Amino acid sequence: MTGDLGNPKNTIEILQKYQFTFSKRFGQNFLIDNHVIGKILAAAEVNDKDMVLEIGPGIGTLTQHLASKARMVVAVEIDDKLIPILKDTLSDYDNVLVIHEDILKVDLNEVAEKYNDGKPIRVVANLPYYITTPIIMALFESHMPLESVTVMVQKEVADRMSAGPGSKDYGALSLAVAYYAEPYLAANVPPNCFIPRPNVGSAVIRLTRHKNPPVMVKDEALLFTLIRGAFNMRRKTLSNALTHHEPLSGLTREMVTEALRDMELSEQVRGEAMTLAQFAHLSDYLTDHFGIRAGEEKL
Ligand code: SAM
Repeated sequence: MTGDLGNPKNTIEILQKYQFTFSKRFGQNFLIDNHVIGKILAAAEVNDKDMVLEIGPGIGTLTQHLASKARMVVAVEIDDKLIPILKDTLSDYDNVLVIHEDILKVDLNEVAEKYNDGKPIRVVANLPYYITTPIIMALFESHMPLESVTVMVQKEVADRMSAGPGSKDYGALSLAVAYYAEPYLAANVPPNCFIPRPNVGSAVIRLTRHKNPPVMVKDEALLFTLIRGAFNMRRKTLSNALTHHEPLSGLTREMVTEALRDMELSEQVRGEAMTLAQFAHLSDYLTDHFGIRAGEEKL
């Protein structure tokens, strides 16, 4: 029987028992605050019918709490050293499956199909900060059945995820999140709630998957290529940034100007002033009038 790991004394005991050393490269900052764990659980609204996917269970602190609320928890952990520890700390729970793998290599659709009959799952995690954006994008772009994603991230990233046009935090990540989900900032979390302490402030954010995207486009990949292109050079005008964006090699300044005119937007407009609906309009205009297609790239 392992004590509650939200209590720092119990976490330190486990770390010492296994002589665990933290790996910076895996973004390991373990939670040691039950108040924060309570906030994550409240924001995630897990119930006993749910299957929860946890990314990076660490020593199982959040996992224990998720297991007592959910029907099943699938926890994906990359670090070899943590696998025997999780076996120990989760021995009281028969509804947890630990998968020893890199989350970016897991077939998420297969997990949802196998353990939740293809029904929408909830993702809950204290994310490794070095790969926050690739993980969030993989969850959404996989088009796996998803109810919500409730995650601890760097405060600065949470701000970018929930920013609107015109604000300094607004960018490609804000637009990607807006396309797929409704963001809700659930809590700010200071460094002393983790061991070791991160150098930055953190926040819990809940992204509730839209049932239908707020905008419909003919070519989703082109929409994202335009968004990335616009913010790669955010100081430039939209037309300048897009015509210098390599994956949009067939695009000319005249095409962008014509599309902007159709939206009654100035030729001098910058991406940071444009809404998701305007990017969607631009994307469909370029498809319909000039047959522009997307190139391969990642956020
Ligand atoms: N959930 C634990 C907690 O809250 O105390 C640990 C959170 S810690 C911030 C991030 C966890 O993600 C670590 O356990 C780390 O080993 C794991 N991790 C890092 N990269 C990963 C990856 N690519 N796939 C799966 N897990 C990963």
